[in-house]
Parts: sequence; structure tokens; C-alpha cells
Amino acid sequence: MGVIETLKKVQEISLLIEAYEEELERIPADAERMLDDLREKLEEAKKIYHEKELSLKKSEGELEIEKDALKEKESKLNKGGTNPKELKALQDDIEARKKHIRLIEEEVKVAKDELSTIKAKIEEYEQAISKLAERIGGEANRKEELKALLSKKRSELEEALKELPEDARKLFLTLKKIYKHEVVAPVEIVEEGKPKYYCSACSIQLSKSEVDSLKRDKKSLHTCPYCGRIIYFKTKSS
Ligand SMILES: [Zn+2]
Repeated sequence: MGVIETLKKVQEISLLIEAYEEELERIPADAERMLDDLREKLEEAKKIYHEKELSLKKSEGELEIEKDALKEKESKLNKGGTNPKELKALQDDIEARKKHIRLIEEEVKVAKDELSTIKAKIEEYEQAISKLAERIGGEANRKEELKALLSKKRSELEEALKELPEDARKLFLTLKKIYKHEVVAPVEIVEEGKPKYYCSACSIQLSKSEVDSLKRDKKSLHTCPYCGRIIYFKTKSS
């Protein structure tokens, strides 16, 4: 394998390593904490739901009692036979009970609305929890996979670097410290009449003497006069 071919292989492995490292960094470490937080909120909502439900049942029971009492008073009123004082007391009592019933009915309505709101919240939390739990499971698997891939690619990189002559290896590693991604770049040829040649990484146009030197001396490494990256002519196989 020629030096350029080996450099391209080294670069390919390096790029894969960088991609895996970036993916690994993107997997959030705080998902577990988010899950705990959601579970806490769900428990709290369930507790409130339970309390409200109890209080609703109490109100409904009270309503039943009041309605029965009202019926009884109304039938007493309809039977007649009460003296005016008793009649007045009975009518006042009926009015008071009707008012009370309206109040309880309003309470029951509000409580039912609140319960349906809390129920929707609970369902929302449960869905979010199941989604997040699934995601955490998937991420844990991917994390392990990425760690295994990284250790494999890092040893492959070490081996490939050993195949390079020392000057090429040094140049590659120095450039890698400067540029995050590509450091070995093909020459880009634009064929419009007289062909023009560019460094495909930084887009600077190469002079005729640089192009000639690239064409003439295929053994040496050539670097871009502007960005310093290693440049090469693509062959049919690359
Ligand atoms: Zn360049």
C-alpha cells in the first residue's frame, strides 16, 4: 500500500473514531435523573387524585342525604296540616336545603373537572416515563456498542499508524492537532476549458508549479500551500 493509501486509511479510521466519540458525548447522562423526576411527579399526581376522589365521594354522599331530606320536607309541606309558624319554619328549611344542594352540586362539578385534569396529567406522565425508560434502555445498549467500536477502531488506528513512514506519521498527527476532521484531502479538478486545481479542504486554487510537482513527484508527500493539509490526486480506485 502506498503512503497516500495508508494515510487515507488512517484518516478514515480517525474520522470513524471522532464520529463515535461525538455520538457518545451526545447521549445525555441526566436521562436517569429526568426519569426519577417524572416518577416523583406521577406519584404526587396520583396522591392528589386519590385525595380529590375521596372528597368527591364525600360530597356525593352528602348530596344524596340532602336530597332525601329535601324530599321528606317537601312531602311534609304537601301533606299540609301545619300551623303557620311550623309552615314558615318548614319553608325556610326547604329553601336552605335547596341552596345547600346547589352549593354541593357546584362543588361536585368542580371536583369532577379537577379529577379529569389530573387524570390527563397522570396519563401524560405515564407515557413520558415509558418513552424515556425505553430510550434509556436503547441508549445504554448503544453506549456499550460505541465503547466496543471505539476500542476496536483505536487499536486499528494504532496499527495503521505503524504502517506509515515516520515523517508521514508525524505530519498526520501534527495536522490532526490543528484540524478536527479531514487532514488528507484530494485535489479538486474543475474542467472548464483549461482545468483548474483546488485543495478540496480549504478551496484555495493551486498554482501551476504545485500541480506540476504533484504530477511529477508521486513518491513525496505534498501539502496545500494555504492550509498545510496533505493533498493528493485521486486515482481511479480512490
Ligand atoms: Zn488547503
